[in-house]
Amino acid sequence: MTEITSKTREIKLFIDGEYVTSSANKTFAVHNPATQDVIAIVHEATKEDVDRACLAARRAFEEGPWRTMTIKERCAKIRRMAEIIMERREELARLEALDVGKPFPVAYEFEIPRAAHNLQFFADFMEQQGSETYPMEEEYLNYTRYEPVGVASLITPWNLPFMLTTWKLGPCLATGNTAVIKPAEPTPMTVSLLGEIAKAAGIPDGVVNIVQGFGPHSTGEFMTTHPEVDLISFTGETTTGKAIMKNGADTLKRVSFELGGKAANIVFEDANLDKAIPTSIRAAFLNSGQVCLAGSRILVQRSIFDEFVERFKDAASKLKVGDPQDSSTNMGPLVSKEHYDKVTRYIKIAEEENSKLVFGGKRPELPDYLKHGFYLEPTIYIQENPKARICQEEIFGPIVTLIPFDTEEEALQIANSTEYGLNGVIWTDNLQRAHRVAHRVRAGTIWVNCWFVRDLRAPFGGFKKSGIGREGGHHSLEFFTEAKTVCLALS
Ligand code: NAD
Repeated sequence: MTEITSKTREIKLFIDGEYVTSSANKTFAVHNPATQDVIAIVHEATKEDVDRACLAARRAFEEGPWRTMTIKERCAKIRRMAEIIMERREELARLEALDVGKPFPVAYEFEIPRAAHNLQFFADFMEQQGSETYPMEEEYLNYTRYEPVGVASLITPWNLPFMLTTWKLGPCLATGNTAVIKPAEPTPMTVSLLGEIAKAAGIPDGVVNIVQGFGPHSTGEFMTTHPEVDLISFTGETTTGKAIMKNGADTLKRVSFELGGKAANIVFEDANLDKAIPTSIRAAFLNSGQVCLAGSRILVQRSIFDEFVERFKDAASKLKVGDPQDSSTNMGPLVSKEHYDKVTRYIKIAEEENSKLVFGGKRPELPDYLKHGFYLEPTIYIQENPKARICQEEIFGPIVTLIPFDTEEEALQIANSTEYGLNGVIWTDNLQRAHRVAHRVRAGTIWVNCWFVRDLRAPFGGFKKSGIGREGGHHSLEFFTEAKTVCLALS
């Protein structure tokens, strides 16, 4: 074990430029999901701590210089944060693997560089923005200013803690707002380091605050009801989004929600299976299936169903489940005991619904030191009834359901039959069909013959219960700004 993975850390709150302890000395433990060892003791933010963080963010917003400095100066500091993240890439990736249980290469190759890119991208993008002008004959000129809104609560889930926090922090800071951030309680480590990273990059005290704790009746609720908070950017479960919306209603907070998903990954008979199968395996089992965009329902045209099942099962059986710090591991454990219990309950549900088990469904054989980890094999079911619970509900684990279909119309009906609409995937070599189906699947992102490819300028978000609003490019900037019209008499 390296020093990074063996140490038990003390994680404090970051308020007004300083790491501080919980005002009530309340702490909670965080466990390594691969072993159940305690890896951190975290200070829980009380109502008073959240109040201090929100007031610090308010003061930093009102008094400047963050909001009033030039965009160039502000963005240079955000870019410096991105550079520091890349300088600390290995450390951050090791911690993310430790905390979440994801394989180290996933964090090192993708998530940490993407986190740096999130900040870099929004700094660059912000510098390129102009605004509209509307001349009225020769007499008046209207022009638009995009001004920061104020104090933002940024609340993120545990599956991609660092990447998703920077995805919100980039546009929040680039537009001149200040932030109170809360990572999810099982995975506080990497986000906690954003405090020292912001400080080292020259971001003024109070602009970035980080509080730790739980959701209901705790830190999350205090942040979403606080009168000094103007807007909430939240990623997490649909049910949590509902609670936050209610809590923010009294003070009329602006909200952006990225919520759950249950994507249909539709494989037509003319698909190139040499590409569809490995990508569908990734879509189902990356991060142990704990990805909102996971292709967790695979709809396969009946004429190729048996062949697909055999080849998919064969590919899944080759995935190496094991220690997240080992670079040859493809799949780590689930994030926590609570989540493991939720996911494995679906194995029972699948049996009750007469789903046919194709592969997995139990704890994998692992070395002794991982015997307490929250591990589950990649698990594949066939289910003919698309209304079954495993076809409708977000499991958020390494359980995928294969559903046969006969016609394009039937595939569309199944794809659109859940309450979610985050994304969809289509595999076909027929260009007309690709467009036709892409236009009719009710979801925010449709990938054709690919998955998980993102241009950060493009809108990202969900239809139906998968979200409210869009993030990405100018959509993010609009959320974090107030548009103001100035009308000037020219004579
Ligand atoms: P969660 O909703 O349980 O928790 C997310 C965050 O909200 C945590 O920080 C939690 O402490 C906080 N929270 C919980 N209750 C709260 C409350 N009442 N008030 C304020 N904050 C509260 O979600 P999770 O289990 O951490 O993450 C998994 C979920 O996130 C899945 O549904 C997944 O689909 C979704 N997700 C969506 C996207 C997307 O972009 N759409 C990305 C990643 C994850």
